[in-house]
Amino acid sequence: MSGNRTFTMLKPDAIENGHMGKIIDMIIQAGFSIKAMKFTRLTKEQAKKFYEVHAERPFYSELVEYMTSGPIVAAILEKENAVADFRTLIGATDPAEAAEGTIRKYYAESKGRNAIHGSDSDENADIEGKFYFTPAEIF
Ligand code: UDP
Ligand code: MG
Repeated sequence: MSGNRTFTMLKPDAIENGHMGKIIDMIIQAGFSIKAMKFTRLTKEQAKKFYEVHAERPFYSELVEYMTSGPIVAAILEKENAVADFRTLIGATDPAEAAEGTIRKYYAESKGRNAIHGSDSDENADIEGKFYFTPAEIF
């Protein structure tokens, strides 16, 4: 994946609360095109691995529980400056600090249950995309 791609997950709270369609629409309207998409559920092992960098943080086990509590939507998105522009679109981790008009401002429940993931670098976008999708599944 090159620098114009990012990876996202619609988290279990977003699906549970019926926000899946509205969030996907916001992503498309913001100019991202979908290169891969999957409605799936993480196993505990997968969730632990995906959030490995947070293993020492106090919220890690709660995060793993939450991320395995229901289905998620994983996707690879393309746009110029994808990683940074997508982080702007989703807003701050804590919805209380998220800017107006961002996905987390509209749809996140809390800092933990915050509706959506966005990669934080081109390198992680590539790693995270490959975590979910084989080359044949990516357009
Ligand atoms: N998280 C949490 N409590 C915190 C910080 C993070 O539960 O104090 C969760 C939250 O779901 C967040 C994820 O861990 O999205 C990853 O944290 P990170 O700091 O990477 O935030 P993000 O990149 O998702 O904004
Ligand atoms: Mg992060």
